[in-house]
Parts: sequence; C-alpha cells; structure tokens
Amino acid sequence: MSETRLEELYGKNVFSVGVMKETLPKAVFRDVMDVIKNGGDLSPADADVVAKAMKDWAMERGATHYTHWFQPLTGITAEKHDAFIASPDEEGRMVTAFTGKDLIKGEPDASSFPSGGLRSTFEARGYTTWDVTSPAFLKEAGTGVTLCIPTAFCSYTGEALDKKTPLLRSMEAIDTQTVRLLKAMGYTNVHHVEPSIGAEQEYFLVDGKEYLQREDLIFTGRTLFGAPAPKGQEMEDHYFGVIRERVGEFMKDLNRELWKLGVPAKTQHNEVAPGQHELAPIYETANLATDHNQLIMETMKRVAEHHGLRVLLHEKPFAGVNGSGKHNNWSLITDSGENLLDPGESPERNIRFLLVLSCIVKAVDTHADLLRQSASDVGNDLRLGANEAPPAIVSVYLGSQLEDVVRQLIETGTASGHLEGGVLKTGVSTLPDINKDATDRNRTSPFAFTGNKFEFRMVGSSDSMASSTTTINAIVAEAFSDAADVLEKAAPEDLEKAVHDLIEKNLSKHQRIIFDGDGYSEAWRHEAARRGLPNIPSTIEAASTLTTDKAVKLFGKFGIFTKTELESREEVIYETYAKSINIEALTMIDMAAKQIIPACMRYEKDLADTIIAVKNAGAKFGAEAEKLQKIADMIDDAQVALDALRTLVDQGGKMTNARERAFFFKDQIKPAMMRLRRPCDALEQIVDKSCWPFPTYEDMLFEL
Ligand code: ADP
Ligand code: MG
Repeated sequence: MSETRLEELYGKNVFSVGVMKETLPKAVFRDVMDVIKNGGDLSPADADVVAKAMKDWAMERGATHYTHWFQPLTGITAEKHDAFIASPDEEGRMVTAFTGKDLIKGEPDASSFPSGGLRSTFEARGYTTWDVTSPAFLKEAGTGVTLCIPTAFCSYTGEALDKKTPLLRSMEAIDTQTVRLLKAMGYTNVHHVEPSIGAEQEYFLVDGKEYLQREDLIFTGRTLFGAPAPKGQEMEDHYFGVIRERVGEFMKDLNRELWKLGVPAKTQHNEVAPGQHELAPIYETANLATDHNQLIMETMKRVAEHHGLRVLLHEKPFAGVNGSGKHNNWSLITDSGENLLDPGESPERNIRFLLVLSCIVKAVDTHADLLRQSASDVGNDLRLGANEAPPAIVSVYLGSQLEDVVRQLIETGTASGHLEGGVLKTGVSTLPDINKDATDRNRTSPFAFTGNKFEFRMVGSSDSMASSTTTINAIVAEAFSDAADVLEKAAPEDLEKAVHDLIEKNLSKHQRIIFDGDGYSEAWRHEAARRGLPNIPSTIEAASTLTTDKAVKLFGKFGIFTKTELESREEVIYETYAKSINIEALTMIDMAAKQIIPACMRYEKDLADTIIAVKNAGAKFGAEAEKLQKIADMIDDAQVALDALRTLVDQGGKMTNARERAFFFKDQIKPAMMRLRRPCDALEQIVDKSCWPFPTYEDMLFEL
C-alpha cells in the first residue's frame, strides 16, 4: 500500500457531505441535508439525482457493484452485490444503471435471516431502505470495489428485522425528550440532541496457519480445549507494552483502510492478555459510530488475513486470561455543540448537568435488567460475572466528588437563586461546582461516569453497538420524559425549586444503584442482593427482560419496539443460544473423538511399547507404568464424558420449544462440555507435545 498522506487518505472512499456538496446540484444538496438533519423522505426526483452522482463517483473509483449493507439480527452485516449494469443496448453495449429506486429500496429474501417468527417462510419478503444519515462508502475487497449503502432492514409488514431500525428510533426518542426537557428548563436554543458513541474495540490476534489447525477457532471463534501456558497475564507486561513488528504492520494497514472509510481510528495499544489488543476510534454520532464499529470488525478480519493473521472477536477466546469487551462511551451532544454530560464550569450548567445525571441514575436503576440484557450474548456469558471485566450486576459509578454532591443533596439542601429571562442563571447554594477532571477511575464498574460521558463496559467484543445504545437511549429518554412532565407544569417562579426537587428525588429514590467499591468482590454480590439489584447470570435469563410489562411499556411509548418485535427478539435469542452451544458441543465431540483421544492413544501405545522394551531389557520401571495408568484413566474419563455429551446433544436436538431448548443447552450441555474439557486439558499437560494434534495456548498466545 502506498504511503499517501493521512489527510489525503482520510474519507477517500466515503460519499461524504463534502462529496455531495461538490457533485449534487445546490437544491438537491439542500434537500438531502434537510433529510439528514430533520428526517423525512427524499423525493423520487432527488433520489434519482443522488443515485446518478453516487454511481458516477463510485465508478470513477473503480466500483463495479453496489449493495445495500444492512445489520440483521445475526449481529454482523449482510450484503448482496448487484453490478451497475442494465440489459445491453441493441448493439450489445453495456448500459450502466443505478436509479433512485435502487438507492432507496432493496428487496432481499428475508427468509434466511433470524426473525423470531416475525415472518413465516411463505411471506419471506423483507425490505432494505437507505439510511441517509450514514454515508455510502466504497469497500475494496476480493470482489473488487463495491458501493455500500447503509440501510435499515424491515419485514413486509414494517417490523424491524435488524439492529439499525430500533437504534434510529431510539435516537429520535432521546432527541425529542431531551429537547423537551431542556425547553422546560428554559433552554430554547437547542433543537436537536444526538447521542455520541465511542466504541473501544478489544480483540486477539493469532497466526493464520495455527488458526486453521483448530476446528474450535474456525467453527466457534474460541478455544474449546487448551491447558494454560506456563505464563498468563500475571506479569502485567503486555498491557501498553511495545507492539511487536508483525502486529504493528497489521495495525498500520488497518488504520489506513479505516481512514479511507472515514472511520476515525485513533488509539491502539496492547491489552492485558497476551495476544490481546485494542483499537479506539474518536466518538461520533451513535448511528454512524455503530456502522463504523461494524466496519472496524469487518476490516480487521480482512486486513488480518492479508498479514497471515486471524483476528478473534469472540468475548472469551482463551480460558484463563482476560476476554474482550467493547466499551460503549455514551454522551449527549446538542446541535449548539454542548455536551450535556459535561459538568461545565458555571453553576447554571451544573444544575442542568445534575438534573441530566440524576435522570440517568434513575434510568439505570429502573432498567438495570434491560441494560444488562442489551450487553448479553452467548460469548459474553463467559465474561460477565466471571471475575473479570464488569460483573453481571449493573451499578453506576460517579466518582468521589459527585457522590459527595449526591450525598449532600439527599441529606440537606434547599435551592436558592433566581431566574433571569426564563433561563436558569443561578446555581444552587448547596451544590458545589463540579470539575470534570475530579472524577477518578474505577475499572470494575459496569456503568461509570468518566468526566464527560458514561462508559458502559458490559458490551461484548463481537456484539454490535446497536443494542446497548438503543437501550441506553430508550431508558434515558423515559427518565427525561418523566422529568419534562414535571417541569412543564411548574410556574416560572417555581422552576428552580422544581428542578432542585427533581434532582433530589431522583437521587434519593435511586441511590441504591450507585456503587464505587470493588465490583468483582463477593461482598458486593451480597450487598447488591440486599439492595435488591438484579443479578442476571446469563444471556437466556436476560432474554425475558425484553418482554416484561415494564419493557413493553418503555419501548412502546417511544415507538422503538412493538410488543411483537420484542417477543420476536426474545425468541431469536433462545434460538441463537441453543444453536451456538450446539455448534460448540459438536465441535468438541469432533475434536475429542477424532483428534485428542486418538493422539493420546497413540502416545499411550508408545509408552506401553517403551515399558515392554524396558522390561525386556531387564531394567526396573516405575514412573512409566504410573504415567501409563494415569493416561489410560484420563482417556477413559474423556471417552465417558464424550459419550455423555453426545447423548445430551441428541436429546437437545429433539426439543422443539426454543426457550426450553436454550435452558437445556445452558444447564445440561454446557456443564457436560466442561466435563469433557477437563480430562482433555489434563492429558495435554502430560503427553508428549509433539503428538498434540493442534497448536496450544503457548503456541498461539506468545509466538506472534
Ligand atoms: P479509556 O481506555 O481510558 O476509557 P480511551 O481514550 O481509550 O479511554 O477511549 C475513550 C473513548 O471514549 C474513545 O473512543 C473516545 O473517542 C470516546 N469519548 C471521548 N469523549 C466522549 C464523549 N463525550 N462521548 C462519547 N464518547 C467519548
Ligand atoms: Mg475505556
């Protein structure tokens, strides 16, 4: 790849606002910008003009195909490419084609995507519709250059079949409710508010050839067997360590590919576990950041292959060392450029900030279950609550200074000050000024205030950013809406007191969710239980939180999910869960039956031959026989566990109720998988390394 300057590279493959400004007639450009800012539909005539400009721009850059790029409930992106060609003309010349209609709407067969019963196979139609707020881009890959149009994906009857649609709906909700709340407080110069997201992405890199020797990595993205290497992460020498050359070359190319796509990749470093790294982009508006995170994951995989590497996005690729997450840094930015989570320097900002903060505390306490659900997936079950990353119990960390303010407010305090011109101008005497740098760090908190944003740390590394962001938007929108209901009724002279009372009420009523201690400790589990905070252990237990009356009311109120959509999503979770564990179990069976046990039996025979030879030679033997017996016993254990797992998988396969099946896989099959893993890992530790049938943790984690 040529060493083009960063500025030239950046956004080169994006049909950005700048490109539109250059290529579109003024009036059409204005219409497009209006739709981007204020919503609504582009006229068919405008759409034709945009499509033509897009096609010309893309083809000039070598594009041959276009695709509607969407995010079905599989969690990854989907695309079907169409060439820019129409039927040839009479003289056999190729005619290029890409109309406004092609741009705006696609009709993929929806029947092969998860829908949780939303569309039956005979009504398989689904639609993709252009998301004007996320720019089209060119993907350069093995297939050539393809124009990718970010789209939402719905069923024929309008139900969302993807992750983008609810996210966009939730962004509308938080926009409307925040503007309402600010207006009720006297801020009339804010017309739009957007959540901003910064998604820190953790990942592992392994050698491509070694990857291909492990069925478990190929089929499930994680190791299902593997004894720990002599060294783990205990020396704390990998975190922020010098980046090795091979990894560095990968990172360099990755950055350049991302910059071309307009993804503001900013920070890179080695993470805690050996073989683990992180990439963090600069935060962007939620929808774009979510699309860009998908592009980051996709581009990582592609670039890694070019370097003979493989990227592992699974939440727990290796037992015994840290897994990978994706921190969701969330804040609210107004169209006047202010961050509502920035405490600011002046008292009037402080009171607005405190109201926002108190609403968020209320939101998280009210919907801790939904928040936990939003970060759950099969892989993340191996992380959350397993003594690393954040615990499965949701709590809020505010930092000592803010916690002190909260305490003061709850214990004492009346408001003083006055209104000027309908805008709250004066602070509250009991509220000290808050300086954003005064918050310290707490690495164990799942939902931590970090100076001018909240950092939701539960999300899994392979997950889309959409679910967690949709949930945060929704629950905060509800708390803002409740607050606006109160403030809109207050007389101007009572407004300040009303705001103060609201802050106090939100904080005192919901203070149980605030916790600044060690989130990993056993003591916190007990304390959380005493406080009545939910501790939901797994993805499938979390699934039913989607359809409680509370959830249906919340999501229904803002039109984010209908009850039917929620039910379908719950169903998809059960289905996906059982399918994923089923694949893991079958992979284990395959590896144990065809690779591990045969390899160990060969070694067992070698050992037996040795013993006979030693005996025939007339020497004494002891240790050899002991070892042989041990290995024979372990092979036995493995074989018994293997047969038991097989029987259970057969049983699970016959179950028809998705929920029951999912629980069966969690409660019966997962423990049976562990029972098979144990003797196999033990065997790995005593048999000759040269006979082990695939690369070990040692090979994979330390030798890049
Ligand atoms: P750390 O690892 O200490 O949490 P990083 O700098 O690695 O910090 O990541 C912080 C992430 O938060 C980055 O993606 C950054 O762009 C993002 N971020 C910073 N400010 C905001 C904000 N106001 N809203 C949302 N995200 C933000
Ligand atoms: Mg972070």
